[in-house]
Amino acid sequence: MTYEQPKLPYPEDALAPAISAQTVAFHYGKHEKTYIDNLNRLITGTEYEDMTLEEVIAVAKGALYNNAAQAWNHIFYFFTFSPDGGGEPGGELRRAIDRDFGSFDKFKEAFVEAGTGLFGSGWVWLSRDDSGKLFITQGSNASNPIVDGLTPLLTFDVWEHAYYLDYQNRRADALKALWDIVDWDVVESRY
Ligand code: MN
Repeated sequence: MTYEQPKLPYPEDALAPAISAQTVAFHYGKHEKTYIDNLNRLITGTEYEDMTLEEVIAVAKGALYNNAAQAWNHIFYFFTFSPDGGGEPGGELRRAIDRDFGSFDKFKEAFVEAGTGLFGSGWVWLSRDDSGKLFITQGSNASNPIVDGLTPLLTFDVWEHAYYLDYQNRRADALKALWDIVDWDVVESRY
């Protein structure tokens, strides 16, 4: 199987000012594309070719894990956003956020803190376990909570390539701006 890079469900300039058109062009058009190209190169002719991407992430190591997880993470990341996003979650997800973090504002604060507190490149995640309990986790490089048996709901990319063109070293500002474009309907559907 060859993975194709999914087309974004919005134009490159649609997420501005939270994420500029230039950043989307590089991050989606170059970085994400390279991970998917590398993934295809690494699985061709191997036992991994017929696995789902999630299965590859769960068992692969080294360069294959890194490129498979980075491909998955970036697709998941860009499909979380919408020019019509922002606001607050509702439904069962909202009840779980209030239950596990105290309030939506406290959740947002803890999520951004986990992202800014991560040394170097990586990802901050909101995930649920099989019982529906929510967790905020952070991980370096190509981290993905699937390997820990969790179901990812939301992620912010904290690699510098995700924000440096727009925010330079101001990672906290870059992360806070993303709340304006999170499509909570998508995140709720993952819960
Ligand atoms: Mn990235």
